[in-house]
This record gives sequence, C-alpha cells and structure tokens, in this order.
Amino acid sequence: MHDKGLVVVLSGFSGAGKGTIMKHLLEAHPQDYNLSISATTRDMRAGEKEGREYFFKTKEEFEEMIKKGELLEYATFNGNSYGTPRAYVEQLIDRRKDVILEIDTHGALQVKKMYPDALLLFTMPPSAEELKNRLVGRGTETDDVIAQRLAISNTEAEIMDSYDYLIINDSLEKAVDQVHNIIQAEHFRVCRNTLTINEMKEQLKVFERSN
Ligand code: 5GP
Repeated sequence: MHDKGLVVVLSGFSGAGKGTIMKHLLEAHPQDYNLSISATTRDMRAGEKEGREYFFKTKEEFEEMIKKGELLEYATFNGNSYGTPRAYVEQLIDRRKDVILEIDTHGALQVKKMYPDALLLFTMPPSAEELKNRLVGRGTETDDVIAQRLAISNTEAEIMDSYDYLIINDSLEKAVDQVHNIIQAEHFRVCRNTLTINEMKEQLKVFERSN
C-alpha cells in the first residue's frame, strides 16, 4: 500500500490534446484516477456542462473562493481566471487516491510548491505546425483567440524544464498508455513507500529479537 495518493499535474499547450488524453485515460482506468474539476470565469463553450468540464463562476464568486482559501492554486489564462478547488484534492490524496489536475504551467508551479512530490507531466503535439492545425480544426475559437493561445504557448515552453515527464501526443492511444505507465511506475519509487518499508524493517527487527 502506497503512503498517499499522487497529485498529478497534466499541462500542455492549448491544442496539445490534454483534454482528450484525460477523457480516454479516465475511460480506460476509471478505478485508478480522479479528475479535479476546476473553477473558471471563462464563458461556457458549446457542448460543455456545468460541473463536468468546469464549475463556471462569475468574477465575484471566483474572488470569494480565493478569499475563503477554497482554491489550492489559481491563475489567469487569456484574461480569464482558473483555479483548483482545494477540498476535493486533499480528500482524495488522504484516501490514497490519485488525483489529476489539468492546469496551466503557472498553476503547476504553485502546486509543486505546495506538494513537492507532485508529479508534473507536460504534453505537446509532434510539431508547432500540428499545434496550429489542431487549434484551427477545433472550430471553437476565433482567429484572435488562436493567435493569443499560440503566443501563450511560447511562454509556457519556457517553464517546461520544471516538469518531470514529456508526453508527445502523436498517437492518442500511445499518449494515454504513457501517462498511465508513468503514474503507475511513480508509485513504486522507494521515497513514496516509506510506510511499507518501515513496517518491513520493524517486522525484521522483531524476527531478529525472537531468534
Ligand atoms: P480552456 O479555456 O481551454 O479550457 O483552458 C485554458 C487553460 O487553462 C488550459 O491550459 C488549462 O489547462 C488551464 N486550466 C484549466 N483549469 C485550470 C486551473 O484550475 N488552474 C490553472 N492554473 N489552470 C487551469
């Protein structure tokens, strides 16, 4: 039994396919992972649902959440606020469940400060050309928003060094497998299993004394 659930952060350029990777990961391994649902002040997109993609908030409601300390981290992205509700994450890791946060790079750095053993994954498409094609192909954003998101990608690329693993999303199936395998392997690090190891050491001492 591992000491605690893992806090896993999945970031990546807008259009890198984070959302799709997460959706397939949760479908393939529903027992293994829980997705943190963020609060945001951005408008709901066609096809989105309150409480499924986000908890949609007014600016005032979001400010209130910050004031009450209800957010684990928060950041502004393209003029809108996004934040991770604290209670859900804390409850899950205490129950030794893994929780995945699909958040931007600024949020990721805040999470790493709070949880130094959080696992940070960064996903990107195979090329910049592909990134642009995906944003255009989505059909949900205006040209201006696409240009802004590409500009943000440039600054996000600078923060990539702080991440633990890079996932190149050239095949969805492969990317989903990689995320799953990395998280599972991470559980077996010696430093994440001190309770089990100490228990073993105690038992060995008892055996030694009784011999
Ligand atoms: P979108 O508007 O495309 O859903 O998300 C825009 C960006 O905000 C993405 O990079 C997404 O990962 C990030 N994001 C979503 N939720 C959060 C959050 O709770 N905190 C932070 N820091 N970023 C978030």
